[in-house]
Amino acid sequence: MRRLPVLILHLLAAAAPLGAQRTITPPAAMRAIREQDISRDLNAMAGDAMRGREAGTIDEMRASMWSAEEMRKIGLRPKGDLGSWFQWWNMRRTRISTLSSSVSRDGRPLALWTDITPATNAAADVAGTTVFVGDARDTTVDVRGRIAVATLVAPPAAAIRSTTNTYEYNYTRPAIAAMANALTRRGATAVIVVADSIAELAFDAVARVQSRGTYDVIGGVPRSTRAPVAGTPAAALPTAPSASVPVLFVRRGSLSDWRTDGQRVDIRLRAESFEYPSVNVIGEVRGTDPSLRDEYVVFSSHQDHDGVRYTVAGDSIWNGADDNATTSVAVLAIARAWVKRPSARSALFIFHGAEERGLLGSRYHVAHPVVPLERIVAVLNGDMLGRNHPDTAALLGSQPPHRNSAALVQMAIDANRATARFAIDSLWDRPTHPEGWYFRSDHVPYAERGVPALFFSSNLHQDYHTPRDEPKTIDIRKLTRITQWMYMTGWIAGNAPQRPAVDPGFVLR
Ligand SMILES: [Zn+2]
Repeated sequence: MRRLPVLILHLLAAAAPLGAQRTITPPAAMRAIREQDISRDLNAMAGDAMRGREAGTIDEMRASMWSAEEMRKIGLRPKGDLGSWFQWWNMRRTRISTLSSSVSRDGRPLALWTDITPATNAAADVAGTTVFVGDARDTTVDVRGRIAVATLVAPPAAAIRSTTNTYEYNYTRPAIAAMANALTRRGATAVIVVADSIAELAFDAVARVQSRGTYDVIGGVPRSTRAPVAGTPAAALPTAPSASVPVLFVRRGSLSDWRTDGQRVDIRLRAESFEYPSVNVIGEVRGTDPSLRDEYVVFSSHQDHDGVRYTVAGDSIWNGADDNATTSVAVLAIARAWVKRPSARSALFIFHGAEERGLLGSRYHVAHPVVPLERIVAVLNGDMLGRNHPDTAALLGSQPPHRNSAALVQMAIDANRATARFAIDSLWDRPTHPEGWYFRSDHVPYAERGVPALFFSSNLHQDYHTPRDEPKTIDIRKLTRITQWMYMTGWIAGNAPQRPAVDPGFVLR
């Protein structure tokens, strides 16, 4: 079922004055963008056989090989390392070590991730005695220097996300964070949160997600300071509890074991860190104009998604059909049209690896670009292109403070007029939007460094980051239209006599 979003549509104030609308006819090559190719590729890339394409696993590798093979069949030129399709780099994962960590109560060990789950990735060494607070809102209990135990307090409705994960998960996470903050501030040396009946249903999911740890890229540019923590809307970010205070989550059924004050709890959480490869997949079409072909238009997607995770309604494969097989197959379709008729400037087709782990592939490529960054005239990135109302789409980076090139925005507006004619939803591009969506895809590291960049999207929905993000939910017609729109934007940027200028004084904030 398609949800009708509540839309307040603002026609974007175009840089061109009224009456000066440019009519641009798409080249005949655009007919090479075909619904049947897009549908076939989407089913291949987001089918269960790809197992959700998790970064750093053999499943991301399989999707990356598939992407490169499609690029080869289309007739792109490889633009990765040593004449290959691939730019390899390492991700670093840091997590709580299951083997060398332990938690015990009165000398009896508790099973990590099964009986008790760390709720942060911080290493910790805390031993002490418990005080049962019961209700964490009761501030009369002195928790200073003690290990505070409290039952989970339901979060305010506004803190519970409606996109991504399950309701129970989205209920549990902000509740634990808020309680950890409050009890840490009151002087607890550790916080143990006992699940209520709703959070109990999320216990295994929290354990599965938490045990994965955190990810970074070796040799990439730093993450934008505006980037929200993965899975957390910007506006709902709790203040991080002090890293030295461990926060643990236990099952509802253990409540009676925790009620007695003065039990000795020994918490030894050790972190472990290791490196392993992910990859960007890069193809090129050389430009036709010798004086412009050393400038590049970039079409950008990410091939990874969230892999095999906890089960929701009998399904554990998080297919990532909308996120981001849609843009990946759109980029392949654009490439098919591009090889038929290249633009004056060259074009790069980049699948960034490990986007879901923190924009890792784009942060690496920006630090080690296959062509000089200043020769990239436009980055046209897409993320989630196939859902929501059939006639609306978002163009992020189209209004201040996110806009870094009014000239490129104008090209996209002209391209929309010549192709899809979407009503452009500008709400999600606002700095006040609670999702902070602008900061959550691969154009950001480019935009931050002054490369004109746009982010095409049909926005979030209730199946985002769940196993329900399946190929059958994708509106292929709409996806094809957005593909034409991205293509046409690139076509205009690839042939314009002047490259799109960066707005003077632009600083991303
Ligand atoms: Zn995505």
